Amino acid sequence: MKPVTVPFFISHQGCPHTCVFCDQRTISGSQGALPTAEQLLARCEAWRVTAAGRPLEVAFFGGSFSALPHGTQAALLEPLQPLLKRGELAAIRISTRPDYIDDQRVEWLAARGVRIIELGVQSLDDSVLAASGRGHTAAASVQAIACVRAHGLQAGAQLMPGLPGDTPVSALESLKRAITAGADFIRLYPTVVLRGTELARRYAGGDFVPLDLGRGIALCKILLQQAMRSGTPVIRIGLQADAGLNNDTVLAGCWHPALGQLVRSQLYADLIDRFVADGSHATVLCHPARLSDVIGLKRSTLEVLSRRGVQLRVSPDASLVKEEITIKTNQSCSSRSIIYDLNYSMYEV
Ligand code: SF4
Repeated sequence: MKPVTVPFFISHQGCPHTCVFCDQRTISGSQGALPTAEQLLARCEAWRVTAAGRPLEVAFFGGSFSALPHGTQAALLEPLQPLLKRGELAAIRISTRPDYIDDQRVEWLAARGVRIIELGVQSLDDSVLAASGRGHTAAASVQAIACVRAHGLQAGAQLMPGLPGDTPVSALESLKRAITAGADFIRLYPTVVLRGTELARRYAGGDFVPLDLGRGIALCKILLQQAMRSGTPVIRIGLQADAGLNNDTVLAGCWHPALGQLVRSQLYADLIDRFVADGSHATVLCHPARLSDVIGLKRSTLEVLSRRGVQLRVSPDASLVKEEITIKTNQSCSSRSIIYDLNYSMYEV
């Protein structure tokens, strides 16, 4: 049973770095206070009541958990130990920087119920990391992924396509390297320019041009397809809309509250576009969970096709896998896959 995540944003706490893109207070919507033991337990209890029997997973997002003072990490984890022992809490998830991961830290965290460590890899290109002020190398990320997995924990890699110096080719290479290093899952956070950051200053001065929404979607669909080909889940595309991001805080870049859907929709739209002829009447069958992706946000895919004279009906078919569709016309019936039946070139981005 998929666990219910109980999120805690720990803001900029513990991080001595200033990455050019980062304003943790904006991202987390928090001014930096860490939750007390009472607050931790109260929120877990509130979520347990609504979880309808599903297991809970506490997630400490934001900041760099393993860079917090040792006593602070203990103060966040110890109150949760009785819940773990009673089976009310299945696991704890943290996010942190790759250069704050080593055997000792991972052993200590694992002994306190941490099962998933998400690493702010961002890029696996040293020149991109340097231009973004990350303060660690690509090798540190590769080692951190290996270290987490060596202790039997899951390692997630957060990647930020579109950082300073990044190109579509280097973004794809970073993804491939993260997967080769053993990342269990990926989060794609295309770079956005947040008010008050160094990146905002560079953007205002014309020294940084972010990926816009269109190019970001074009790049992310290729990255998503590549991850799917490797069997590595992409569990999130785009920063959470409810994390203090809005038209005032996001100055530029690839951000949309439904970015993940836009990216998946583009894959299905490309597939239909390729295999349905102009002026035809067609029915597309898809997995029920993919209906809205196939139709597109605000029926965008259907509208684009209607401009080509295509009349499309979309129906659910639970026998299909999520990545497949069946296209039926008067003349033919064929199954197509967004993983295997589309080949992209980076020049399209
Ligand atoms: S390491 Fe993380 S929390 Fe620290 S400045 Fe960079 S992005 Fe922000």
